Order: sequence, then C-alpha cells, then structure tokens
Amino acid sequence: MHIIRPSSEVPVRNRAEVLVVGGGPAGFGAAVSAARAGAKVTLVEQGGMLGGMWTLGLLSPFFDNQHHEGLNRELREKLMAHNAWGGLWNMSFDSCEMALLLDEYVSELGIDVLLYTMGCDPILEGDELKGIFIRNKSGEQAILADIVIDCTGDGDIAARSGAPFRIGRESDGVFQPMTMMFKIGGLRPDYSRDDLRSWYNVLIQRMPESELLSEIPYDNPALITLPRRGEALIQWTHVKRCLGTDAEQLTKATFEGRRQVRRALECFKLVRDKLGDVYLLDLPAVIGVRETRRIMGEYVISEEDVKSGASQPDAVCRVHFGVDIHEPEQTKQTCWKHPGFDIPLRSLIPLKVENLLTAGRCISGCFAAHAAYRVTGDCLKTGEAAGAAAAEAIRSGRNIRSWAAEHLSR
Ligand SMILES: Cc1cc2nc3c(=O)[nH]c(=O)nc-3n(C[C@H](O)[C@H](O)[C@H](O)COP(=O)(O)OP(=O)(O)OC[C@H]3O[C@@H](n4cnc5c(N)ncnc54)[C@H](O)[C@@H]3O)c2cc1C
Repeated sequence: MHIIRPSSEVPVRNRAEVLVVGGGPAGFGAAVSAARAGAKVTLVEQGGMLGGMWTLGLLSPFFDNQHHEGLNRELREKLMAHNAWGGLWNMSFDSCEMALLLDEYVSELGIDVLLYTMGCDPILEGDELKGIFIRNKSGEQAILADIVIDCTGDGDIAARSGAPFRIGRESDGVFQPMTMMFKIGGLRPDYSRDDLRSWYNVLIQRMPESELLSEIPYDNPALITLPRRGEALIQWTHVKRCLGTDAEQLTKATFEGRRQVRRALECFKLVRDKLGDVYLLDLPAVIGVRETRRIMGEYVISEEDVKSGASQPDAVCRVHFGVDIHEPEQTKQTCWKHPGFDIPLRSLIPLKVENLLTAGRCISGCFAAHAAYRVTGDCLKTGEAAGAAAAEAIRSGRNIRSWAAEHLSR
C-alpha cells in the first residue's frame, strides 16, 4: 500500500559552499579540509557524535593511518598526547578521546555542524544536485550547496540522486557480514598487547567447535587491546545476509549482533584463566556495517589495479592495507596482500549527477578493492581529498567534474 504525501513548502536552513553528509572518518576529513581551504562548510550527521565507526561503532586499530600524512598524522599525534594511543600493534585508540578531539576540530574551525540530522532526499534540477532535504527534531528543512560530499558510508545521497551503484561480489551480489563490536574490561594485567586470539584456541579445546560456530558463526575473532590496560575491543560476532541500507534488516542484525555478544561473554567464562574476570564495559551505538553501495564513478578501481599495484595520475590516496574479506557465506576470513594501489580522484566523482563527490567506503571500486580501502586511514584520506578538491573547484568557479578533468590533463 502507498499513501501520497501532500506537497509542502520546506524552509531553507542555510546555503553552504560545501555540504558534507555523514560525519565518520571520511566526512570529518572532508569537512575539515574544505574549511581549511576557505570554504563555508555544513556537516550533517545522523548520530550524536562525530567519528562514525571510530566512535559510534567502537573500532580499533586505525588501519593505514601510519601511511598517510595530513589529518592521519595529526590525529595520531593528538591521541598520543592524550595517552589515548597504543594497544594492539601500537595502532589502537580510545574512542571517547577520539570523539572529544573531533568536536574540538570542528569547533576551532567554525564548521556548521548539525547532529541528530538525517540527510534525506536530494534537491535536483535535472542532473544538477542543488542541495538536500534534511530531517531532525526541528522537522524537515533544506540545505542548499555548491557541492555535496556524500560520506554516509552507504552512498545514500548519491544513490537517491540517481548515480549508479553496485553492491557485493561481482559474481552474485553477496556482501560481507556485519559485526557488533563490544568493549570488555577486567582483562588480566599481564595479557600480551598483541595477542589477538590465543584465548580462542583454548576455547575451542574446551567447547565443541560446532557448538561455538552455531552460536557465533565466525572462526577468526580478534581481541584488540586498547591503550588503557585491562580494556579491549572484541571483534567476533557475525551477522550475514542483512543489508545495511534496509532498515528492517539493519534492525534485525542489530538485535542478533547483541544476542551474540551475550553468548561471547558466556564463552569468556570458560577461558577465565587466560583472560581474567572480563566484563562487558561498553556496547557501540550502531552495528558495524562493512559493505553496502559502491557508487560508480568516472573510474572504477579494478581487481587488476589492486593486484598490479596500479598508480594513477590523479591519485589522492595510496592504499597499503591488504584485501580483507569476511566471507559472506562461510565462517572464515580471506585475506591477501597486494603491492599497494592508488585511489584516483575520478573514483570520487559519481557518474550521472553533477556537483556531487563521494568519499570513504562508498567510492567507486570493485568488491576486492573495497575490501582494502574501506579501512579508516584511507577513508579519512579520501575525505580530505574530496574536501580540498571541492573547495578548489568552487574557488575556480568550475563544475567539479570539469575541474577534475582539467586537473588530470595538466
Ligand atoms: C565491524 C567492523 C570493524 C572494522 N574494523 C576496522 C578496523 O579495525 N580498522 C579500520 O581502520 N577500519 C575498520 N573497519 C572499516 C571502517 O570502519 C569503515 O569502512 C569506515 O569507518 C568507513 O568510513 P566512512 O566515513 O565511509 O563511514 P562510517 O564510518 O560508517 O561513517 C558514516 C557516517 O555517516 C553517518 N550517516 C550515514 N547515513 C547518513 C545520512 N543519511 N545522513 C546523515 N548521516 C548519515 C553515520 O552515522 C556515520 O557517522 C571496520 C568496519 C566494521 C564494520
């Protein structure tokens, strides 16, 4: 059944030069770099804090961070200065400190931020994106902008604007599972910082593997130690075949993820001698969604590019992190290394829609490439590049697609 909504006038909240939708690693990077380049920036985020998976999703380590300058280095150094960096492979961080730090950035730069705000439908004139409708406690409003940067992770704005996208494996469209992360306290003080899973090896000796896998269908869990001793994140739960862009499936997956957390806590009691009397310290605000839409752009990073370590004339980020596929239909993870490959600016420019960029995990690449560049150091870097490119294109009075093409031919 459908119902027709009466058309209504919607107030225009503001006009920005650069409108960033989604305040995760990519959106934070985009907003900060556009503001530093002198653009008037508005950032809208559906959650109550910035950081996306860094904060709302509770993850660590900060992969590929060490390979990039700019905001990657800045954040690492500031987190170190707050004693909020360390843990596993000396690459993990404290998510609360991260949240406070991101607040300080946007406040110091005077970025116009709206939290608790969902970016909804695009405002289109033909194929030109003019802004978006937003929804929050104030109701519906419009924000107009010269350039919109879609950093929603899911490519919500790009998809609704008519940009083509793909989801999942090229062969069958099946995508990676979701994971409900969680944080534990009470870890033995002498627990080795880099010991990811010796506790699991002991657990499978004490509990039949078949029983374990029927409760939590993933056999390569990780205990990710954090900077503060005694605390760790657990990446273990797996929820398969639920799509992050479907509200019903997302809700179902969230409840299932938390059910698996309860089961995991029971399992920890069986390896108390290895871990200590661990307890649940925190749950994330959102389930971790690995994979949804990849918005097709001027360039699609191919598996061949990944394997050959392709360089690009308009590179904005060199990806070092290996291809890491949490198998959609099995209990295992498939990982392979590559020589390092470039993300070109063209992968951030969606087809068919003008005045739009993407950054973060929804950029244009194949299934395998996405399984590498989805890590947060690279998402931050593509965000930074998108923000800077948007600000420069606006300053030069050019449309972003033609500005990028000219940039490429230089
Ligand atoms: C379980 C799990 C574990 C992971 N582990 C690691 C790890 O250890 N290290 C690592 O580096 N990477 C890891 N990743 C990958 C990484 O977290 C993501 O790929 C990365 O966060 C993507 O960044 P992003 O900015 O594109 O999206 P996100 O981090 O998802 O941020 C998107 C933001 O946009 C907001 N948003 C979404 N839609 C809208 C909308 N319509 N309107 C307004 N706001 C919106 C969201 O609330 C969110 O804040 C992991 C991913 C998962 C799922």
